[in-house]
Amino acid sequence: MSTPREERLAKPPRRERVERPQEYYDQIKERFAAERDLRLAYRPEGTAQFITDLGGLLAQYETDLYGGPIIERDPIDDTVEVLFIGGGFSALLTSARLREKGVESIRIVEKGGDVGGTWYWNRYPGVACDVVSYDYLPLLDEMGYVPSRHYAPGSEILAHCQAIAQRYDLYELAVFQTTVTSTIWHEDEKMWHVGTDRGDHMRARFVVCANGTLTKPKLARIAGMDRFQGHSFHTSRWDYDYTGQDLEKLHDKVVGIIGTGATAVQAVPGLGANAKELFVFQRTPSSIDVRDDWETDPEWAAGLEPGWQAERRAKMFTEPPLTAIQIEKRASMTREDKIRAQENANIDYMMRIHRRIESIVEDPATADALKPWYMFMCKRPCFHNDYLPTFNRPNVHLVDTHGKGITQITEDGPVFDGKVYPLDLLIYATGFEVQKTGTWNQIVGQDGVDLQDKYAEGIRTLLGIHTAGFPNLFVMGGYQASFQFNLTDLLQVQGDHIANCIAYAREHGYTTVDCSPESEDWWVQEVIEHRGKTNRNAECTPGYYNFEGNENRRQDGNYNGGFPAYIDHIGDVESAMEQHFVCTS
Ligand code: NDP
Repeated sequence: MSTPREERLAKPPRRERVERPQEYYDQIKERFAAERDLRLAYRPEGTAQFITDLGGLLAQYETDLYGGPIIERDPIDDTVEVLFIGGGFSALLTSARLREKGVESIRIVEKGGDVGGTWYWNRYPGVACDVVSYDYLPLLDEMGYVPSRHYAPGSEILAHCQAIAQRYDLYELAVFQTTVTSTIWHEDEKMWHVGTDRGDHMRARFVVCANGTLTKPKLARIAGMDRFQGHSFHTSRWDYDYTGQDLEKLHDKVVGIIGTGATAVQAVPGLGANAKELFVFQRTPSSIDVRDDWETDPEWAAGLEPGWQAERRAKMFTEPPLTAIQIEKRASMTREDKIRAQENANIDYMMRIHRRIESIVEDPATADALKPWYMFMCKRPCFHNDYLPTFNRPNVHLVDTHGKGITQITEDGPVFDGKVYPLDLLIYATGFEVQKTGTWNQIVGQDGVDLQDKYAEGIRTLLGIHTAGFPNLFVMGGYQASFQFNLTDLLQVQGDHIANCIAYAREHGYTTVDCSPESEDWWVQEVIEHRGKTNRNAECTPGYYNFEGNENRRQDGNYNGGFPAYIDHIGDVESAMEQHFVCTS
């Protein structure tokens, strides 16, 4: 059910189509390539440029500032039917489906002090979803809830997660402030044994790796960062004691923020409005489009019929049929023509983003530095109305490192081009380790095989969810699954499938369900085939979408066959379970 405002916006204003020669587009593509090559030359080490093992002096960047003191408890020694590693959206929406199917014994084991995952950890000022909340928040039909805004704030999303956990009785067995350290299959018992950093020894028939796709904060390896004498933190561990709840304690502070991704774009406006001075250290600009936010119309909300969210979702994945003219036009185009047409449309969009910057940012040099030179979707697109105007404030300074990044920090602050920027507070908006879900804790399957060893030559899964030799283990949001801008769409489809697999085992009296090596092999080939279809990732500027420019990783990425095809494949697998799974009673 679209809102009346969405329906109005869905009809794009008539725009004059300006015909441009192909050379115009080719020149811009050349600039894209030059900007990418510049960045690749600065950081040939790819993903190794980041540190994610935040031990020793860096442990402070991962400490939970929101959960209060660690609550002492005795180690747990018991058995549950389904155990979730992680308590974010994945665990919540899958648990709801499991409850619907009569599963009673469900435990969430969560590192944080509550459920919520991303929305537990990310509490930086300005945090909100940048996917329409009517689509992004899970289980709105089931919860009878309509978000307060088109883009709900983070605090509301966290409260929604807590409400789901209450409604589905997930707090009863949940364990917080606890990190899983080992997940080991015991063939004799047909059980997973799960160890934790609190000395627990839990057993579970089924384990779901629901640790999230962007969970572990990462820091850039910057020489001297441990010498910095001011205060510092990562955006996902915002220190409100230092900044004040409304950032009021920053009025006399000089603040720096490293990184200009989706997080920084939301945090910078508040920082700019409150800090005495703000330095934004940029390596690559984000693309920033209009953020169409509004309060939910109570009349519209009151008129929603049960099942409205499911209806919205279904609508989104049904493409309107092509007209006869469109069919004819497409048939007459070669594959190269189609790629070129798509690329040119993409460039037109990015140039509109450039013009938007020019119309908002007053200083021409700053405006120029804020222009992203890459194809749309090479990096996560951002939507904000206050980010660009923040650079018109006299106290806000963009330090554009033109692809190089900050490589040195002294006692006083970051250094660029030989100049030290003395700061009171340095904020790292440098992102998160990506999609390593399922491989962080030691996972040992049948015959003592460690999942890391199995994946040494490349990830091997069925649908990105199952992997042979690891019965009753499910991975959510990992590689070899489809990619969705609205991650909840993917998680819901995976959660439904996992609940169906567990229900299938229960109905048939099976104690184990393991994907067959043949099915796994079929899916790996499917993933490889689709990954090779375009050069797009290789042509993109480095970022976490393309392993920082390391394109050799054939199968260690998403399934690129499209979300509708992924849904169809899941449906096909479910309708032929005996063919795809090896089950034992
Ligand atoms: P990102 O990984 O997107 O951004 C990290 C930033 O740090 C980049 O701008 C990167 O530059 C920069 N950087 C890294 N090293 C250096 C260095 N040495 N010097 C200067 N800059 C450096 O992390 P985010 O936390 O911003 O976002 C992660 C993801 O989280 C998003 O892509 C999105 O999926 C999600 N998110 C979603 C939101 C939502 O509303 N749903 C809101 C916020 C985040 P470079 O680009 O050159 O690598």
